[in-house]
Amino acid sequence: MSQFILAAASLLLLASGTPPTETTTIAGRAAALRDAAWREDRLGWDIVEGLTTEVGPRPAGTEADTRARTWAVRRLRDLGFANVHVEPFAMPVWIRGEERAEIVAPFPQPMHVAALGNSGTTPPGGIEAEIIAFDSVAALTRARDEDVRGRIVFITHAMMPTQDGSSYAGFRAPRREGPSVASRKGAAAIVIRSIGTDHHRNAHTGIQTWADGARPIPAGALSIPDAEQLQRILARGQPVRMRLLLRSHTIRRRMSGNVVAEVPGSDPAAGTILIGAHLDSWDLSPAAFDNASGVAITIAAAHRIMAAGRPRRTIRVVLFGAEEVGEFGSESYFQHHRAGSGVVFVAESDFGADRVWRVNLNLAASNAALGDRIAALLAPLGIVRGQLPAAAGVDLGPWVRSGVAAVDLDQDGTRYFDYHHTPDDTLDKVDPAQLRQNVAAWTAMLAAVADSPEPVHPIAPAH
Ligand code: ZN
Ligand code: ZN
Repeated sequence: MSQFILAAASLLLLASGTPPTETTTIAGRAAALRDAAWREDRLGWDIVEGLTTEVGPRPAGTEADTRARTWAVRRLRDLGFANVHVEPFAMPVWIRGEERAEIVAPFPQPMHVAALGNSGTTPPGGIEAEIIAFDSVAALTRARDEDVRGRIVFITHAMMPTQDGSSYAGFRAPRREGPSVASRKGAAAIVIRSIGTDHHRNAHTGIQTWADGARPIPAGALSIPDAEQLQRILARGQPVRMRLLLRSHTIRRRMSGNVVAEVPGSDPAAGTILIGAHLDSWDLSPAAFDNASGVAITIAAAHRIMAAGRPRRTIRVVLFGAEEVGEFGSESYFQHHRAGSGVVFVAESDFGADRVWRVNLNLAASNAALGDRIAALLAPLGIVRGQLPAAAGVDLGPWVRSGVAAVDLDQDGTRYFDYHHTPDDTLDKVDPAQLRQNVAAWTAMLAAVADSPEPVHPIAPAH
């Protein structure tokens, strides 16, 4: 029986054209690199600590954003990466001003609020209006315009923590779509229950863009305890009036940029591996989870491959600019490099620093053996093989949709939305042991793909 299995396995290996000795050697080297990273990686922590401490919040298009790029370029050059440079692009910049919310009737009291990206501004003295509440964007959409006109719309939701972070996509409609729907119905402003899962009085900011025909109105998020308080006040059945001050302004054009660095490969014909994370952040915190961690994980893993000797394929690390405010950096990069780039594989890190628990692959059927080797290398780190096609994040998603192979190393998102886009996204939330596990997983995955003897084939483009 076992002889039969062995014979079948050798036949499979022969059929796929890969000599068992070569892949076995590559897998052994990848496993050794993985274990060294897991045991002793320091670089990942040094980068998260350095970026959050020495740069701090780094909103795109601001002076801090420029400092972040300078910091990253210097760090990548010092680490020995090749071809380190900045690729600039222009973008509009929204700047947060003073912000305050209070209930003026029937039970006067202050509330914690943060403006959402691209919010319209209130006059310097703020506005005051009656609240009209909805439990979903769908309910707001169904409401009569005359009931909404001149009021402050309040939208709540029931987002709960999930390991895979899927509740974010399911429950972020109040932030992404609510402001435009409220504006079209003539609302004076909108406040939403923060898109988050904590119970601290931190409001969660985040991007929203005005749909065609929706004029900017003030748009903010209440902290979750304040949103619950407002629901209790509304449940008393009396008209509720809010005074809202959300000051902001927009600068039409500023420069930002993507930071690029490479680990040169020995075989240019084998194609390039493109990995990335966004360097910019929201303005409210040093953004340790979102996304100094992704910057650190991708750089630390690529550096480990570089330190172990020249890989077959070039590994290019791109630290994208302006992801938070509309993916300007990744869009610019894709437009400039998609044609003739030689990119055969992408992977992105943008979900904090908690442990990788699942790997999802998106490889051509002809690369099934490579997928099996990646999954086998990750299993000792407690990483289960998922059944979803890898899609990368928002920065590298366009590459996958255009037919480039990808792997997602999914991090545990159970506590990610407790801190996401709040003042509380600080270094103390990063667990060094889990960060090391991330670096180990990325190192193993990169080693397997960078040195794989078989070609990495395109996948079917999404339609
Ligand atoms: Zn992010
Ligand atoms: Zn973010």
